[in-house]
Amino acid sequence: MEEAAQTPCTLCGQPMGASEESCPSCGCVNPKLMPKLEPLWNYVTEQTKSKISMPALWRAMEAATPVALVRDELILGYEPGELHQSGLVLDHRHKNVIEQTIEAASRRRLKLRAIAGKTMQDLQMELQTELEGARLQQQTREQFLKTAEAGQTWEAVGEQLIRRFAAIPNRGLTSVQGRFLSEAVPAIAEAYARLMPAQPTEHDERSYTRVLERLAERTNVTAPILGFLVEERRKKGS
Ligand SMILES: [Zn+2]
Repeated sequence: MEEAAQTPCTLCGQPMGASEESCPSCGCVNPKLMPKLEPLWNYVTEQTKSKISMPALWRAMEAATPVALVRDELILGYEPGELHQSGLVLDHRHKNVIEQTIEAASRRRLKLRAIAGKTMQDLQMELQTELEGARLQQQTREQFLKTAEAGQTWEAVGEQLIRRFAAIPNRGLTSVQGRFLSEAVPAIAEAYARLMPAQPTEHDERSYTRVLERLAERTNVTAPILGFLVEERRKKGS
């Protein structure tokens, strides 16, 4: 039996077999097995020039360096000061044409993604930031759920959510309020499942309403809309 030689993945550093098509850890495609990305990108750029008559787009494509292929994403690196040019390349009208040209040339349907920087290290940083962001988001979600779980009454649930809101920086901005709601609504739906009996009494309804009203006051939505969002969430199953 042949022993596959192991080399560290150029993107994540985990060992991968020399003949493995892509890294089992990060999904980046083994550069040895890929047609060279640079000639591919040059070819696609030339083809695009004949299809789309827009010199600004051509320049934006020429400014990009293909860094790697990760799963089905072709990573285009830009000098940080030139990243704004990627907007033209990623504009869906152009992106479709470019992706089709890549598919015709490489028999792979790839998506384009632009990053600041042109090296593998730049890509590592980008992926790390992305991972970190996802981790933080997950943490916030869990924190919210815990907050609501801890509340054994509607009053306590409302109190905790409001305390949580009061601790958020820039909570006067609607963007921040929207983000808060995207976490608070599932938390309220979860509390609803726990605190609301199958046949709510008027007292139950009033206690729940009070939570909606207190949160609505602070987040620029009306209480019935907030109640609606919770209902929608409950239908989806929280
Ligand atoms: Zn890897």
